[in-house]
Amino acid sequence: MKLLEERIKKDGVVKEGNVLKVDSFLNHRMDIELFNEMGKEWKRLFEGTEINKILTIEASGIGIAAVAAQYFKVPVVFAKKSKSVNLDGSMYTAKVESFTHKNVSDVIVSKKFLGPEDKVLIIDDFLANGCALEGLMKILEEAGAKLQGIGIAIEKGFQDGGRRIREKGVKLESLAIIESMDASTGEIVFR
Ligand code: 5GP
Repeated sequence: MKLLEERIKKDGVVKEGNVLKVDSFLNHRMDIELFNEMGKEWKRLFEGTEINKILTIEASGIGIAAVAAQYFKVPVVFAKKSKSVNLDGSMYTAKVESFTHKNVSDVIVSKKFLGPEDKVLIIDDFLANGCALEGLMKILEEAGAKLQGIGIAIEKGFQDGGRRIREKGVKLESLAIIESMDASTGEIVFR
């Protein structure tokens, strides 16, 4: 998606450790006009696919998923990161290792809000090694819900997550795929 690529080139900052900072428009200050265009593009890409729920993960996924949901006209459920997992059986849980913070957290979704009747589109801001998505996919499996596709804003194509998830046969639509980026020059090349 040209608009997103141009914005990344203009305002994205490449940090050491393969981290791209996009906090001026995506995950701290949020450009809602851009989010609207992203939502429309996912709607176009998933036209004809039956979707009755969007699943994302806190925190950065929530804003883009909420805006996108207006085009799909479906509710959004976000997986919560939790320090203490409630073991009373009322929650689906998965462990997710954070790429940016390097810690492992439990993510939870209430069984009230996800079940076998659901046809789900997952939306998230970044795809790096794929741990966040694999956690969400595990939760869908536990719930007996159907994964209909995944929409990602920025995929770092030089990391492994995208390849692993596409190999499972999942329809994965990333709006911008970064082929390479260089912290010393700031150069970003898109696929
Ligand atoms: P993964 O689980 O695919 O390794 O990483 C996905 C999660 O890590 C995303 O939800 C995002 O919050 C965070 N993340 C991964 N790479 C980056 C990055 O380069 N920049 C930022 N800002 N977040 C990232």
